[in-house]
Amino acid sequence: MIVDTHAHLNDSRLAPDVDQWLQEARAVDVKLIINVGADVESSRLAVSQAASHDELVAAVGVHPHEAKSWNAQMEVDLLELLEHPKVCAYGEIGLDYYYDFSPKHIQQEVFAAQLRIAKAKRLPVIIHDRDAHQDVLRILEQNGPYPAGGVMHCYSGSAEMLPAYLDLGFCISFAGPLTFRNAKRPALAAAEVPDDRLLVETDCPYLSPEPYRGKLNHPARVVHIVERLAELRGVEFATIASQTTSNALRLFGLGSGD
Ligand SMILES: [Zn+2]
Ligand SMILES: [Zn+2]
Repeated sequence: MIVDTHAHLNDSRLAPDVDQWLQEARAVDVKLIINVGADVESSRLAVSQAASHDELVAAVGVHPHEAKSWNAQMEVDLLELLEHPKVCAYGEIGLDYYYDFSPKHIQQEVFAAQLRIAKAKRLPVIIHDRDAHQDVLRILEQNGPYPAGGVMHCYSGSAEMLPAYLDLGFCISFAGPLTFRNAKRPALAAAEVPDDRLLVETDCPYLSPEPYRGKLNHPARVVHIVERLAELRGVEFATIASQTTSNALRLFGLGSGD
């Protein structure tokens, strides 16, 4: 079994056909998917999709793109969603200086505020970091420790930065860019992550792996990330599948699975 630890089946491109995407995923042994929110509305949909599908669990939170719309009512709404039994993580949260859709200081405040909520609720955190490595690390370190753990999703940092995240107790998750031919940095990092901290994800509908780059992504394609990791780490596909699955079950508190 393989776990896609980061998918957005709540996205309007995937939501209408969730049953089809789950069927395709099942056919390649992808039997558990973390369905991730990016604002209140998408978090609510992530939770309701998880409530009606056995293979789905949900994460709720506000993405840095949406940080500028953060207000007290959103916090109330998120706290209510967090009570749902299928919510297993807080996210995705973090900083995105590539698109810069929200002012940097607001992104930082909203990131820190949500780290505090996640810690109070004893939930693992799903961290989005795009072109903001130094500030993400600083805010994580200022707000730690994280007894429930966390994950650097779609890891784009260097191998040299890994120890800082590992010291926080975090897992490192790889997505489609690992399969891109020009992606040297994630490939170097992927070889260095300890066995017990490695995760895989699609971040669908975005970041479709090779040989589907540029096409609509969906959870079944996480097998291409597993394949690439096996190649980079010099082990069997089955080894990566079983390591990443047990790491995902442990991090998200999902027991031993089925
Ligand atoms: Zn992200
Ligand atoms: Zn995402």
